[in-house]
Amino acid sequence: MALVVQKYGGTSVGSVERIQAVANRIDRAVKQGNSLVIVVSAMGKTTDTLVKLANEISSSPCSREMDMLLSTGEQVTIALLSMALQELGQPAISLTGAQVGIVTEAEHSRARILQICTDRIERHLNKGEVVVVAGFQGVSNSEDLEITTLGRGGSDTSAVALAASLKAERCEIYTDVPGILTTDPRLVPSAQLMSEITADEMLELASLGAKVLHPRAVEIARNYGMPLVVLSSWSDRPGTRVVSRLPQPRSLQGMEIAKAVDGVEVDRDQAKIALLRVPDFPGVAASLFGEISTQNIDVDLIIQSIHEGNTNDIAFTVVNRVLQAASAVAEAIAPSLRTDSEARDQAEVIIDRAIAKVAISGAGMIGRPGIAAKMFKTLADANINIQMISTSEVKVSCVIEESECDRALHLLSQAFDIDLNSQKEIKASQYQGNHPPVRGVALDVNQARIAIRHVPDAPGMAAQIFTLLAQKNISVDSIIQSQRCHIIDALPTRDIAFTVAQSDAELACQAIEELDRQIGCGRVSGDTAISKLSVVGAGMIGHPGVAAKFFAALAREKINIQMITTSEIKISCVIDETQGIQALEAVHEAFGLGGKEQVTIPA
Ligand code: ADP
Ligand code: ASP
Ligand code: MG
Repeated sequence: MALVVQKYGGTSVGSVERIQAVANRIDRAVKQGNSLVIVVSAMGKTTDTLVKLANEISSSPCSREMDMLLSTGEQVTIALLSMALQELGQPAISLTGAQVGIVTEAEHSRARILQICTDRIERHLNKGEVVVVAGFQGVSNSEDLEITTLGRGGSDTSAVALAASLKAERCEIYTDVPGILTTDPRLVPSAQLMSEITADEMLELASLGAKVLHPRAVEIARNYGMPLVVLSSWSDRPGTRVVSRLPQPRSLQGMEIAKAVDGVEVDRDQAKIALLRVPDFPGVAASLFGEISTQNIDVDLIIQSIHEGNTNDIAFTVVNRVLQAASAVAEAIAPSLRTDSEARDQAEVIIDRAIAKVAISGAGMIGRPGIAAKMFKTLADANINIQMISTSEVKVSCVIEESECDRALHLLSQAFDIDLNSQKEIKASQYQGNHPPVRGVALDVNQARIAIRHVPDAPGMAAQIFTLLAQKNISVDSIIQSQRCHIIDALPTRDIAFTVAQSDAELACQAIEELDRQIGCGRVSGDTAISKLSVVGAGMIGHPGVAAKFFAALAREKINIQMITTSEIKISCVIDETQGIQALEAVHEAFGLGGKEQVTIPA
């Protein structure tokens, strides 16, 4: 008898008829010989409605009371679904997160799961009952046994965490689309279903705006090797499998907080090319990387910083072997990018061979801003200057001087308690296989960009900034440090820009302005009128031309790129908010991801 955890999202249980349809599906699965634990969300838009009610009473409601309020949504569904099952003659029992013993940190509105007691569930399963558990909620590990919630969209995480704790055979996430598609079908109707995706790719997509899965659910599935399937509750089609590599054995205690970093890596075979003062108009990145890809040169990290005046800086890294060819392209293209005859404003190419990339990786760093901050601080304390930073949900990479590489590696492995013997060079091969270069495209419209001008170019600045943000629990993405140096009061300075969730933008700006008064950098500015468009695919490593194709698609639409950041398996561009959907459609099309078959989405 297989133990399966199934989760039904809000739309899937949005009405009495839908709850009855779900009960029928569960009943069939039990009759096929399965033992079932069901996790449900609140009905339809209940959670949104409850949030609105709270906001009518208070503009900043207390997070404890919000958890008390929002957790009621799921409680309605568990009771109704159990009744519907009982009506079909199927014994069932509903349990709240607290009754199950889904123990979380005592952090309201964003609690992480520490462990789940499975005794009670197992007792009911042994009696032949279907156990219906309220998703999204838990109980704190503090003396007061407070009700906590996991964050919006958190029922997926409840389900996968339960599946891992119960050592279920698989976890099935039932939703209102047929599975994971190449992009959001509500925005691009030609989006196509994927039969399979790797957990690494899904982690990136989920955290870059594809809300079909909660990123933390993917993290748990990946860490514990839990087979995960996303499928429609309206059909019997097989949906999408999220596949994980065989994980290291891992304790179920401290499930979401144990070891955030499981690897420290170093790559010495890197060289940096920076183009300074390239004009800020559509098509510049496209022509540079287009030229580079015609030479079949694979670029690794790419960053484009915030513009200043009417020019940008673009920097990228390549392996040493192709440095000469890549720099020749950059040198050849620079004159055509010169807009101004005045020498100081001209595009300029800088080449640096003596660099190395150090990176920390691990799925547990999702939504834990303190981890990146700790990396920066570790480097700063050792007086190691960070030249470039690139972040993804599961990795933070820093470009540093090559001569500091061994020291950095040693200190980081100490700081994150990683066995140095298991240290590995960054190897693309872990992702290589028969993957298409781009699997999916995601648009995140809830991002804001923060820019800090003239930050002193000295070790410790990034550490100070991101430690402060981490203390305020603000997660930061796409951190960029400009290549250009400004001399202010005889001190070299650089600009730093990064993106945060729009809801954190004000708090982030305030925090940095405070810090600014202490360390005296320049102006801090926030811009919420941006969108972040990302392409994700494990096959983009060792596959030149992906960036070029992405940038060219934007250039054809005359869409200006405001920032570029990359990780091994994603490329993100910050663009104007008003051009988000147009850009998404164009890029989805450019990578040939669209198809004729149109997904039907229930109203
Ligand atoms: P549920 O209530 O079942 O948890 P969600 O609304 O949280 O459902 O997630 C499903 C929605 O995610 C879909 O209706 C779709 O609009 C959106 N979505 C965004 N990106 C994707 C994608 N790449 N594949 C599938 N759905 C996506
Ligand atoms: N009901 C919660 C929400 O709307 C949790 C979930 O549906 O996953 O965010
Ligand atoms: Mg959801």
